[in-house]
Amino acid sequence: MANEKERGGISIELEHIFPIIKKWLYSEKEIFIREIVSNACDATTKLRRLISLGEAKNIDASDAKIQVKLNKTARTITVVDEGIGMTEEELRKYICQIALSGALDFIQKYEGEGEGAQNGIIGHFGLGFYSSFMVSDTVDVITRSYTGTPCVKWSCGEDGAYEIITDYEPEEEEIGTYGTAIVMHINEEGEEFLSPYKIKETLEKYCAFMPVPIYFIDEEECDCGGEHKDGECTCEHEDGKCTCEKKKEAEPINDTEPLWLKNPSDCTDEEYKKFYQKVFRDYKEPLFHIHLKADYPLNFKGILYFPRITNEYESLEGQVKLYYNQVFVADNIKEVIPEYLLMLKGVLDCPELPLNVSRSYLQNSGYVTKISAHITKKVADKLNTMFQNDREAYEGIWRDLKTFVEYGCMRDRKFYDRVKGSILFEKCGDGFTTIDEYLENAKEKHENKVYYATDATAQSRYITMYKNEGIEVLLLDRVIDTQFINTVEMANKGVKFARVDAETPDVLKADGDKTELPAVADVFKKVAGEHTTVQFDRFRDTGMPAILNVSEESRRMQDMMKLYKMEGMDNLYPLESTLVLNTASALIEKINTLCDAGRNDLAEKIARQIFALSTMSQRPFTAEELTAFLEESYDILNMLG
Ligand code: ADP
Repeated sequence: MANEKERGGISIELEHIFPIIKKWLYSEKEIFIREIVSNACDATTKLRRLISLGEAKNIDASDAKIQVKLNKTARTITVVDEGIGMTEEELRKYICQIALSGALDFIQKYEGEGEGAQNGIIGHFGLGFYSSFMVSDTVDVITRSYTGTPCVKWSCGEDGAYEIITDYEPEEEEIGTYGTAIVMHINEEGEEFLSPYKIKETLEKYCAFMPVPIYFIDEEECDCGGEHKDGECTCEHEDGKCTCEKKKEAEPINDTEPLWLKNPSDCTDEEYKKFYQKVFRDYKEPLFHIHLKADYPLNFKGILYFPRITNEYESLEGQVKLYYNQVFVADNIKEVIPEYLLMLKGVLDCPELPLNVSRSYLQNSGYVTKISAHITKKVADKLNTMFQNDREAYEGIWRDLKTFVEYGCMRDRKFYDRVKGSILFEKCGDGFTTIDEYLENAKEKHENKVYYATDATAQSRYITMYKNEGIEVLLLDRVIDTQFINTVEMANKGVKFARVDAETPDVLKADGDKTELPAVADVFKKVAGEHTTVQFDRFRDTGMPAILNVSEESRRMQDMMKLYKMEGMDNLYPLESTLVLNTASALIEKINTLCDAGRNDLAEKIARQIFALSTMSQRPFTAEELTAFLEESYDILNMLG
């Protein structure tokens, strides 16, 4: 009795579930491709396993493939596999019962979570076969079991009513000797998937590394060489339509053996590079990679790449792709990957991960915490090995690495503890140092004190003064640097960072007369304003008449307010500064003499200029200050000669 039909209805619940499937997952319709193609993969893998166990005889599945066919005119997307197939009984059980109850469970579980439930599931994993109804009004399953039982065809409409033909005679192109074809009759909601580009893009996103070869076939696109538009051949032929029968060749989609599955010792640098470029479409070479392979019980694999970072903002756009047994789940899942690692690029395949659980579960899952810890350790180990094995090369890439490392340290104290020995600081003008090396060199002259500059040009006069006395100055010129030093200070008890203009180290000071000159003090108090205290000291560098010091704490406070754009707040906390006048300077001496001679106007003019010059090393002038400074300077030039 070939092609005899039987009608049925799946269950009452179906009326309820189909509209939900359709509407509820509206934003991620494309996952139906992943679900249907991964079922096809599973069916093929199962058959291969049966063959290897000797349970399926006289069958060769080594060349088994999956075809994804698009027919725009018929409005169908068909996924055909050469896997185990299903007998009638199996179809009734797996599709009508198990798959359905799976989908129901899935929906019920998240429906109850109300608002935000859509975002509660990572990559909407696990909806399964019934996800096809998001884009179809009817789905046909044509299947023949590898055991040789008759072919069965099941067709189900969106109302849940199905029709089953138990002795179906398939057309030759429908399915092979055994296997399954899922024919999705695309509805209006699935319209976009009738574009070959959209399907290919979706296949490449979710199926790029599935373990069975996948081919995409646009059934209407021929190879005549003519132009195609909307799936139709527009070259001139009979009736304006192309008559050539040749179909465009099937396009391979995936790489069935992704690099992360291989043994690191079998992979070449070239392979790592190519894999990176292909997956991330980034043609800049990565700095280096880490091949992760964690054994039982964590059991995950992956490759993380350090991208070449050129500025600190670009670096925040990493991409870590999460896979579940070679099936793509989603990008940048912060519940699984430590947040700072999301600045990296890479792939992680976690087959043990319970993906059909909510994000909040993952956040508190011990398994996830262990994955994070493992990755953190591997990243730290890699940095330490590179530092120890080839410091020169490591220094060469440090500028690209440091944003990532510093950010990681700020976020995760454990990461800091692991890599602290391999964190480099750039010295003004000459190479790199670690914090331990710096502190060792500082022992005699400035124990536990780390001096730094934030602007090598503006602060160059200070830097020179420090260097002349044998004090190393670090260059911390990015926004994140000033924040990072808080982390370093907290982790190293007693160690304090100070910008070169925060205070004057004792070694820069000279013995001799430091007596306050009251007349000079008055002049400077007048030009410096209410927030600046005037003091006297004696420096070894006689060329510096004055130094404007701003306390480290108040400057950091202000930097922070700027960073968080706390406008108006900076007026509440004006920078408190100290102007230290150098009694060893001839200019200060001169001002004193002028005051004695009653030439206060000139004394004030020189003082104003000295104050302006010392402010210049501190911060950029405001518009008014710059105008005043220029006028004053021209005026002084006029007085010459
Ligand atoms: P899951 O794949 O998570 O088990 P699905 O709803 O996707 O859930 O599928 C339910 C069952 O239907 C599968 O477990 C499998 O037994 C059967 N099935 C689905 N697609 C195929 C296929 N292409 N070939 C053989 N069996 C299939």
